[in-house]
Amino acid sequence: MTFNSLILIWFDNNQRNLPWRDQSDPYKIWLSEIILQQTRVAQGINYYLNFVATYPQIQDLAAASEQEVLRLWQGLGYYSRARNLHATAQFIVENLDGKFPDNYKDLLKLKGIGPYTAAAIASIAFNETVSAIDGNVFRVFARYFNLHLDISESKTRNYFFELGNKIIDRERPGDFNQAVMELGATVCLPVNPKCELCPVNDSCEARAKKTIQELPIKTKKTKVSHRYFHFMEISDGENYLMTKREGKDVWKNLFTFPLIETSENESLPASFASEFKFEKTHEEIHVLSHQKLNISFWKTKMELGELKRFSEKLDAGVYSLSELDELPLPRPIEKYLNERF
Ligand code: SF4
Repeated sequence: MTFNSLILIWFDNNQRNLPWRDQSDPYKIWLSEIILQQTRVAQGINYYLNFVATYPQIQDLAAASEQEVLRLWQGLGYYSRARNLHATAQFIVENLDGKFPDNYKDLLKLKGIGPYTAAAIASIAFNETVSAIDGNVFRVFARYFNLHLDISESKTRNYFFELGNKIIDRERPGDFNQAVMELGATVCLPVNPKCELCPVNDSCEARAKKTIQELPIKTKKTKVSHRYFHFMEISDGENYLMTKREGKDVWKNLFTFPLIETSENESLPASFASEFKFEKTHEEIHVLSHQKLNISFWKTKMELGELKRFSEKLDAGVYSLSELDELPLPRPIEKYLNERF
């Protein structure tokens, strides 16, 4: 039997039962694909179900405010995905009569939809024979075909895409793409792949040549920068100062306690520490894909009048505890509040 038939039979019998499977609605496929980028399936399932329940149609998502969408996204990280999701929903409703483009080329023009997502939607929803290459597929192809090419290079990505387009099943392109991804996610694992359970182990070249552990090859390491954040919990005991993050930086459009960033692991700058007595309450390290955030939380209390005066100085809003519940918050702030209240 061929690679295609073996992998499709295996997929039919072994695929995980996930809520977005057996779905041909491009809106829901798109939601699941965006949520699952950089997110584990176990974590993504609840977010997917919440999004579908809150916004059953693309029109519902487009009509929501960005703040509501970010709030529902809270905890998933990579918030640009949520902002793009919202912007694209609005674009489709306003300009495309609420209908998703039905082919790879046009899907690729939408904000937040790259080659992988466009191919996943086009193949699963519209049966287009276009290969969806994610990290799992890189691994399976690199090993099965014993390809010693550096996957951090764009020419390698093109090579895999062309290879995928050549071998993709013409009858069931969407299932083929999902089958290869599923194999990578559950059997052809990065460390200790379960080759004995693999439907294509007889013809796997890396297995025959004992090169599995070396593949895939990825040379470029992500550069991680270190940053030092000081969050200031400033309140009168009932109301809190919060600022909305603007500009091109992490957590854009989310709300945090007023923040001071220092270039090294210093204390709170004297200009703040001298006017009010701040006490350090908590420290943690929060790791993002390209940044390691060294976070200190500081706390001070003041009368409501002072709080309002201070809010102007810091360009912050005054929020009661219940109002904080409505705001989209980055994970460290959410965790901090949950632990304290
Ligand atoms: S035999 Fe092993 S290395 Fe080869 S594709 Fe299957 S799981 Fe991956």
